[in-house]
Amino acid sequence: MSSLTEFGGSKLRLEEVTCLTCGDPFCTRQKCQNISTVHYLGPENSPTYAEIVKLPQDIKMGGVNIPGLKGLKMTQPDLNYKPVSIVGGFDEGEFRNVLKILSDKYLPDYNPNDKGDMVMRLKHFVSERNRTSVIGSLNSSVQSVDLDIRDSLSVDFNFEVVEKLSGILEKKIMNAFKSTTVSPREVKLHPDHGSLILYDKKGSKFKIHRDKVLECPLEETMWTKNRMFSFILCLGSGMENRIKSNSGNTVVYFPPVNDETGANFFEYYGDLGKYKLVPHIFNETVIPGEFIGFPSTAKHQSLPLEEDGEYKFILKLDFWIKDSDVYTYMNYHDQRSNPANNLTMSSQYCNCKVCDPYRQRLSVFKYQTLLRNTTLSEDLVKLILSYDVISKRMCNQIDISKYMPDNHYSLKQEEVERQEFEDDWDMDDRYCNGWEDEW
Ligand SMILES: [Zn+2]
Ligand SMILES: [Zn+2]
Repeated sequence: MSSLTEFGGSKLRLEEVTCLTCGDPFCTRQKCQNISTVHYLGPENSPTYAEIVKLPQDIKMGGVNIPGLKGLKMTQPDLNYKPVSIVGGFDEGEFRNVLKILSDKYLPDYNPNDKGDMVMRLKHFVSERNRTSVIGSLNSSVQSVDLDIRDSLSVDFNFEVVEKLSGILEKKIMNAFKSTTVSPREVKLHPDHGSLILYDKKGSKFKIHRDKVLECPLEETMWTKNRMFSFILCLGSGMENRIKSNSGNTVVYFPPVNDETGANFFEYYGDLGKYKLVPHIFNETVIPGEFIGFPSTAKHQSLPLEEDGEYKFILKLDFWIKDSDVYTYMNYHDQRSNPANNLTMSSQYCNCKVCDPYRQRLSVFKYQTLLRNTTLSEDLVKLILSYDVISKRMCNQIDISKYMPDNHYSLKQEEVERQEFEDDWDMDDRYCNGWEDEW
């Protein structure tokens, strides 16, 4: 069974995943059934002029469109990591256990059976402490406050809390990697720190940055390479529109997957600066109980909160993976030939809300529709849907042409021809030197 098609259908509202005009979860404005049938048929049959003037308002609500973001100019450091991201979610029991660990540390009293209560009290605690998040420098240990770059409140915790969380989180992270093209031998939370972070007013954000790579707690071997990732788990959010709005979403920028063989691979010819990084928009960080992980050195940002009353309350940690350093065909081949691990991954090997419209929307649509149209209880609906396993591959082909320079394919062709010429020349050389005789 696919581990990734499982998304808790109760985690988003029906209105968030459907077109408000036609009710379809995959409606784009162009194809919207209800809008395209509205024509002005004369004063007797049509609505009044006043109503028609109001129509554009409705049309704006049509479709399930995600506001687009620009690509970023690529630089050398963008090639220094494997572009891979993980997404996943906690069920209610696991999520409660995470909240209990944090509540034990910070709250004098709380109700361990009430998740909402624990979240609100923890949020209140971070608010009360009122420590503005600092920005570090990649090259030194100097830290400063600059609200124009980073505008949030933080409470940092130490190894004690990390240690307690590791039992739950490391297993979860390891499992999430099964749906990617990377299979770590080991996952370890960065031991000495983590943070509770609260974005709590309109405009709160963290502008585009990379995280600093810390000293690795895992030993390095000849056959493995250790890589640092950033981990964000959403604890709470005051959001009610998490697909059609990008408010508070986390954007991670990766090089485009652009070779035709379908390997998870970026290649470039000529000037690297002519290529652009693709923005991947993750709403997991504003859906309580959902998480993401991405390479710490990948450029990323937290988009500004757009409405009053919205907030974003997250648990931020770093983790390390011990990854095989050798690229083996078998390893690659196994993952490619087993798409059951991730049936809705896009052609960019990503499950963000732009890349993968299926994972969240289908689960929510089924769950919420069943709940609304029947008298079944929530538990029963969940039970019924747990038998509804998706087995069809649904791969969204992402158009990456706008992230590539116009001459990419002609430069690539030239390169291929040049290589072929060199190979021929090499062979002649070998023959002339009489190496074949010596063998
Ligand atoms: Zn529609
Ligand atoms: Zn994506």
